[in-house]
Amino acid sequence: MQYNTLGKTGLEVSKLSYGASPLGSVFRNISEAEGIRTVHTAIDMGINLIDVSPYYGQTVAETVLGKALKSVPRDKYILSTKAGRYGSEFKDFDFSAKRIEKSLEESLERLGTDHVDILFLHDIEFGDLKQVYAEALPCLQSLKEQGKVRYIGVTGYPLKMFSETLKSGIDIDAILTYCRYALHDTSLESVIPALKEKQVGIINASPTAMGVLTERGAPDWHPGSAALVDAGNKAIALCQAKGVNITELAMQYATAHPDIASTLVGTANPDNIVKNVKWVDGEMDTELAEEVAELFKGIDNTWPSGHPENQD
Ligand code: NAD
Repeated sequence: MQYNTLGKTGLEVSKLSYGASPLGSVFRNISEAEGIRTVHTAIDMGINLIDVSPYYGQTVAETVLGKALKSVPRDKYILSTKAGRYGSEFKDFDFSAKRIEKSLEESLERLGTDHVDILFLHDIEFGDLKQVYAEALPCLQSLKEQGKVRYIGVTGYPLKMFSETLKSGIDIDAILTYCRYALHDTSLESVIPALKEKQVGIINASPTAMGVLTERGAPDWHPGSAALVDAGNKAIALCQAKGVNITELAMQYATAHPDIASTLVGTANPDNIVKNVKWVDGEMDTELAEEVAELFKGIDNTWPSGHPENQD
C-alpha cells in the first residue's frame, strides 16, 4: 500500500481508504458480522483512513464501526466523521454550533473514542453558506482547539463549495469530494490548483461513482441522469467484452491522480476490500480506461445537489 501526505495535516494516509457508509446498509442490507470483518480486513490490508458520518444508516454505520474498532489500537487508524447532515431533506441539515457540538459528542460515544482525526461539515451545499462560514466552521475550529478533533474540513458535491470555502478565508485542513474524479467525470481537476496552493488535503470518494461503475450497476436512489446510468451500462458491457472487471478499472483510474492523497471506497464485503487493494497496486489498461471515459463525454454526467444558489 502506498501512503501519501494529506496536505498540511502531515497525516500519512493510505492511497486507498475505507468509506463506512455501507455499514449502515445504504447499498443493500448487510450482516453486521460481515461489516465488522470488512473493517478488520481493510486495516489488515494496510488501509489506515476510515470515513463515516452519523447520516449513514441514521447512525447505524457509526455504531457498527465503533464495534469493529473496539479491538483495534487507536493509533492503527485515522478516523474521519462528519456533522451537519442527518437525513436526505433540507430539514435534516443543521449547521448550528449547538447541533455540531452535540453531534460530535454522540459520534465519539458511538465510535468509542475521545477524538476524531478529521471532522467534516457534511454536504454544505444544503446549508446556508453564511451560517457555515460564520458559525459552523468557527465551531469546528473551537473543537480543534479543545483537542476533540485534530483537523477540520468540508464535504460537498458542487465544486463551488470548495472554491467558496477557500474564498471565505477560513483555514481548513482537508476537503472530501465525491463522484468528481472517476471514469465518468474528472471535473475535480478544475479546483485542485487552488486547494494545493493552500495545502488543503484532498480526499476523493466514490471511485465507482456510487455503484455506476460496478457490475451490479447503480442503486435505485442514484441521483445521476438516465444518460449516466445508460453510459455506465455500456461501459460495463465494453469491459466485459474485454474480460476486465469494470470496478478494477474504476479503482485504478480514480487512485492514479498524484494530487489526490486518498480515495475512499465503500463495501461491506471483505473479499471486495482484498480485491480493491490488489487492484490499485496493479497496472491499469490505459487504452481501455480512455475508451470507457469517452462513453461519458458530452452526456449529463453531473446532477444538482443542495440549494439552487450553491450549484456549479
Ligand atoms: P463507491 O464508489 O465506493 O461505491 C460503493 C459501491 O461499490 C458499493 O455498492 C460497493 O458494494 C461497490 N463495490 C466496492 N468495491 C467493489 C468491488 N471490488 N467489486 C464490486 N463492487 C464493489 O461509493 P461510496 O460508497 O458512495 O463512497 C465511498 C465512501 O466515501 C462512503 O462510504 C463515504 O465514506 C464517502 N463518501 C462521502 C460523501 C460525502 O461526504 N458527501 C459522499 C460520498 C461518499
